[in-house]
Amino acid sequence: MQDLIRRLLAEMGEDPAREGLLDTPKRVEKAYKFLTSGYDADIDHVLNNALFTVDYSEMVIVKDIDFYSLCEHHLLPFFGKCHIAYIPSNKVIGLSKIPRLVDVFARRLQVQERLTNQIADTIRDKIAPLGVAVVMEATHLCMSMRGVEKQNSFAVTSAMVGAFRNNARTRIEFLELIKLRSAVPGIADRAATLACVGEED
Ligand SMILES: [Zn+2]
Repeated sequence: MQDLIRRLLAEMGEDPAREGLLDTPKRVEKAYKFLTSGYDADIDHVLNNALFTVDYSEMVIVKDIDFYSLCEHHLLPFFGKCHIAYIPSNKVIGLSKIPRLVDVFARRLQVQERLTNQIADTIRDKIAPLGVAVVMEATHLCMSMRGVEKQNSFAVTSAMVGAFRNNARTRIEFLELIKLRSAVPGIADRAATLACVGEED
């Protein structure tokens, strides 16, 4: 990868041999390896020992999960907040594992729509809940840096499965609880990740 980065720098009109750029190929390689480490992650390993059988069937919400991903069209970052809800049928996922699940799929080259679906599909496949909802709000640097859209615009995607798809009340309750905020990402408060339990019926 380092040779490619050196060639890329030259193609940009830079001198890869100048002092400030000497270690750049090494750093870029390291950064890309981390930012795409989701390809090597094993979901079952990530969720290891964190699927619990419980007698609980109310909505579980984890909201304001920060995520950072790379758009596959421009290799530029998109980042923002992810909100996840599910209604267990008899299994739950340890709450701390949910942000890690998001990272597994975010640390790949992505489009926001697919990322959203992959998170929802994985939760559905792993614990067969009555429903799953995932909403992601993100700023795409390929839009804001290139001036394609207004600088502060962000994209919202959602995936609704089971009860969230079939039952408007459930869906609305979830959307009310996450209260889509125009999370101007980057000023994200990491401590804001929290779980709350909604009442259904
Ligand atoms: Zn893009």
